[in-house]
Amino acid sequence: MQTLVADHPLVTHKLTALRDARTETPTFRRLTDELVTLLAYEATRHIRVEHISVRTPLGPADGVRLSRPVPLVIPVLRAGIGMLDGMARLLPRADVGFIGLIRDEETLQASTYAARLPADLAGRDTFVLDPMLATGGTLETVIGMLVSRAAASVTAICLLAAPEGLARLGTAFPDDLNIPIRIVTGAVDRQLNDKGYIVPGLGDAGDRLFGEI
Ligand code: URA
Repeated sequence: MQTLVADHPLVTHKLTALRDARTETPTFRRLTDELVTLLAYEATRHIRVEHISVRTPLGPADGVRLSRPVPLVIPVLRAGIGMLDGMARLLPRADVGFIGLIRDEETLQASTYAARLPADLAGRDTFVLDPMLATGGTLETVIGMLVSRAAASVTAICLLAAPEGLARLGTAFPDDLNIPIRIVTGAVDRQLNDKGYIVPGLGDAGDRLFGEI
């Protein structure tokens, strides 16, 4: 598993505003959207392309287009929905699947309550959207589902990550796995607290995006 911390000044600037407890939902949503587009730019660095030629007004030019089958983007419900538009801006033709996982606040174990994914992902680059890589339980489950469906690659885009979650995923998906697994995040924070929240983090990403319901 490869981890890329996209510590570009604009990423850190937007992340700082997201962390600020005074940032209200409308601004939080807009900043998340912008931040995801920046992270998506890094996350798509290895996307599969094919070489083509086009004709400019002055003659032929070599270029590329995205390979088929088109990539699959999977927001993890609920908070990942807040990342979808920012990703779709860069990959408007990607298909979109959904996975819903809920975390038991006592055991911190994630269980699946909804999944809409193609049965066969052969040849497809997949991009998982989950704002907070905390214990890693959710992403371990989701990445495992995509690997078992033969995805060509799995890249998870997270606004923030905790060292504990990264370590767990590193153990679950060792480097000798035959498909590339990548994590792209805006920062790796200090630690998890006893409730599984990232510290200093930004709080509950779902609540801050969509309200405490
Ligand atoms: N989920 C969140 O929304 N925030 C955390 O800090 C951890 C998990």
